[in-house]
Amino acid sequence: MSNLGTAQNPVRAAIVGSGPSGFYAAEALLESEQTVLVDMFERLPAPFGLVRSGVAPDHPNLKKPIRGYQRIAESRRFRFLGNVTVGRDITVEELKRCYHVIIFACGAETDRKLGIPGEHLAGSHAATEFVGWYNGHPDYRDLVFDLSHETAVVIGQGNVAVDVCRILCKTTDELRHTDIAGHALAVLAQSKIRDVYMIGRRGPVQAKFAHQELKALGKLADCDALVAPHDLELNPASREELADKRNRASGKSYEVLQGFAARQAPTRHRRLHIQFLKSPKELKGEGKLERVMLARNRLEGEPLQQVARETGEVEELACGVLFRSVGYCGVAIQGVPFDDDRGVIPNQDGRIVDGQNVVAGLYVTGWIKRGPTGLIGTNRADSAATVMSLLADLPKLPAGPKTGADGLTATLQHRAVRVVNYADWQVIDAAEVRRGETAGKPREKFTRVEEMLEVLANFK
Ligand SMILES: Cc1cc2nc3c(=O)[nH]c(=O)nc-3n(C[C@H](O)[C@H](O)[C@H](O)COP(=O)(O)OP(=O)(O)OC[C@H]3O[C@@H](n4cnc5c(N)ncnc54)[C@H](O)[C@@H]3O)c2cc1C
Repeated sequence: MSNLGTAQNPVRAAIVGSGPSGFYAAEALLESEQTVLVDMFERLPAPFGLVRSGVAPDHPNLKKPIRGYQRIAESRRFRFLGNVTVGRDITVEELKRCYHVIIFACGAETDRKLGIPGEHLAGSHAATEFVGWYNGHPDYRDLVFDLSHETAVVIGQGNVAVDVCRILCKTTDELRHTDIAGHALAVLAQSKIRDVYMIGRRGPVQAKFAHQELKALGKLADCDALVAPHDLELNPASREELADKRNRASGKSYEVLQGFAARQAPTRHRRLHIQFLKSPKELKGEGKLERVMLARNRLEGEPLQQVARETGEVEELACGVLFRSVGYCGVAIQGVPFDDDRGVIPNQDGRIVDGQNVVAGLYVTGWIKRGPTGLIGTNRADSAATVMSLLADLPKLPAGPKTGADGLTATLQHRAVRVVNYADWQVIDAAEVRRGETAGKPREKFTRVEEMLEVLANFK
């Protein structure tokens, strides 16, 4: 019988990605009855994925799961290898040689396009870029957002769109003491934007935002959240949807929207216009975005399955900046099957499949498994399910001993990769917290990889 999973021959597991799904997968492995040694690879020197670089800076409570991840990282059977991009610094084939199992937890790092003319004009951005920029993600550090126009448009009505609107509509004082990146705060402080339009292709009952997030838009210091009463008129199918008990969350959002619609004339400096049943058809401008053409829609279909159809009416909205927030999408890693249409790694119960065949030893979890849906906590059950499949497969896997990351040290050194371990990250973390103290911020993030590595080089 195989001794894989014992102290003599521990399961060597690699996890690719250090967001929530990666940490929850590590937790499930470490808590299993098998002896498992976990090495977590992360392309940035900083761990925690979108909890650090996606979740809005003015939502500090939502960053609390990081404490739990820190506890997982303290396990003696866990190693963090930051600043290592799998597929570039180390190949999947090289990982396979050193590990019995690999779990891909690499998230959904790019965005979906609108697919309309003019989408690539200057001033038209993905929400992914803006979110990464204000959260200090190194990939987006040098992007430029021109906020000198008075009107901004956000396409989409999910929680990410709400985050983008809130950041555009808040005052500098509302953001000053958050962990928003300093470069972003400086640009937002100069923003001339007065009107922000959040536009959805379907109606108020179908919008995806959470009612709590929506409600918060009504409590901004110097911005009025506005909805035109006629936008809340419902067709019979939408009224049925609203009455459906399974749809209680929409009912709560609808009530919040009614509150916005009943408000008196706006008095504050900024206005957030929440509009429904419109789709962007074309972005226009001479060299840069000047206006968006919006098609009016009506809903067709059965309750809970209604789709937006253009009515033929088109209106024009002058704007200087536009953010599309219509979904995140995964990025393929060389050597791993990928579903281009869905932007995910194809799998059955977390086992990666190539066509109909399961690829032995390869697993997937989180947003790259199920697409960009679900909150931080959703990833815990998802990762536990993937790890359950993995543990069930152990008796079938080749049981010969593996080296784990020790077998990669020479290769990484040869490729001049400066691996950032967890103790290194703690040095960077402490330096960020110190930098934030003077400004009354929880931290001032380093927004360039070189800066983070410099902190380590100077650390005595
Ligand atoms: C803008 C935004 C706001 C959100 N706000 C909230 C909120 O308020 N509350 C809430 O509960 N949820 C929120 N979420 C959802 C939550 O962030 C996700 O559910 C969660 O982060 C998904 O976890 P993940 O581990 O699958 O992916 P991620 O968190 O994206 O982690 C993936 C990690 O993999 C790394 N990686 C990618 N490719 C490689 C590679 N080739 N090699 C090595 N490492 C790699 C990435 O750098 C990243 O660290 C928000 C999401 C977004 C986008």
